[in-house]
Amino acid sequence: MNWIEIEKKDYMQVFERLPITLIKGRGMYVRDDKGKRYLDFVAGIAVVSLGHCHPVLVKAINQQSHLLLHTSNLFYTTPQLKLAEVLIKNSDMQRVFLANSGAEAVEGVVKLARRWGHLKLNGAYEVISANNSFHGRTLAMVAATGQPKFQHPYEPMPTGFINVPYNDINAIKEATTDKTCAVLLEPIQGEGGVNIPHPDYLKQAREWCDKKNLLLLLDEVQTGVGRCGTLFAYKQSGIIPDAVALAKGLAGGIPIGAVLATEKASVFAKGEHGTTFGGNALSCAASCAVLNYIIKNDLPSHSSNIGDLMIDGLKKLQMEFPCITDVRGKGLLMAMQFEQDIAKDVALACLDMGLLVNNLKPNLLRFIPPLIVQPKDIDKALSILQKALRKVTG
Ligand SMILES: *Cc1c(COP(=O)(O)O)cnc(C)c1O
Repeated sequence: MNWIEIEKKDYMQVFERLPITLIKGRGMYVRDDKGKRYLDFVAGIAVVSLGHCHPVLVKAINQQSHLLLHTSNLFYTTPQLKLAEVLIKNSDMQRVFLANSGAEAVEGVVKLARRWGHLKLNGAYEVISANNSFHGRTLAMVAATGQPKFQHPYEPMPTGFINVPYNDINAIKEATTDKTCAVLLEPIQGEGGVNIPHPDYLKQAREWCDKKNLLLLLDEVQTGVGRCGTLFAYKQSGIIPDAVALAKGLAGGIPIGAVLATEKASVFAKGEHGTTFGGNALSCAASCAVLNYIIKNDLPSHSSNIGDLMIDGLKKLQMEFPCITDVRGKGLLMAMQFEQDIAKDVALACLDMGLLVNNLKPNLLRFIPPLIVQPKDIDKALSILQKALRKVTG
């Protein structure tokens, strides 16, 4: 079967895919339909947190699939409430709502903020978010996403979102009016290019929100669940947000999203929000297994240490290849930026040599391996990357 031809014929042409068809995976590796093996530094876009088909996750899915898959939220189910307990116990939040994706989770925190505005701020409804952010693909989240390329195809945008420069507290202050109800930020911008703000940025945003009685909403869909060296990235800035959106790595590859909020910000009343699939038994059992494994094995610390190791290696490559203009990251969310638009060529050369990396932008590669990545995997990835860079630049 020529799956690439079938995709071209049958599937909506919205994705820029690399030319391989993946069939199976185990740990750090995936295999394509021709039997070729690849070391995976994409991890399903920071989703496959325990690597591919981790026995702990497979077992949890298997057991739950024999027991109960879905009941709706018209009833109580145990995996959902077990997951709620783990999330509450390990965050500074007091309440959970479970959804199915990142966009839904972020939209959930925005809906909380709209309720907050209605109840506490005379109907204020505007949410300030950042340029180069990414919050998902629903129409409202596209409006929150401060990138014209996502917005232009669907204009006019839903109202109530103000995009301001990232990492600039004064921009947030200047955009605040009596219509503002919340500030929505990623602790590090993921899709926007692994943009790391000043260490005080979130603290300044927290102080401003406190002063104006606004909610501080954090989109930790990409940065959360251990990826950046702590279970939640916000832990590194010494603040507590009012609400947090999680998804991606939360269930290791099974779709899920989570809205977490403090008691103060948990202002939904009965019937004001809901979902059919969100919080279903299968995804919650998967998420419990993943989250408990991450916590028990302290994968956030591992992520921090091994991320430092990889950054060191990337910096060595930067000394060898002057076309690399920047190397940056926190934990296992890392990027390499080039002077020219060679990221796709480098990614294709890596692919050829059995390494998956993400050419996030024409001039930028992103590295987001599973949290279980070991030093030997880093060595191998760096060595392939070096060969690929020699090939493309030489
Ligand atoms: C991926 C991502 C989303 C959207 O998640 P989906 O599951 O694709 O809807 C939202 N916010 C951030 C920060 C993300 O990285």
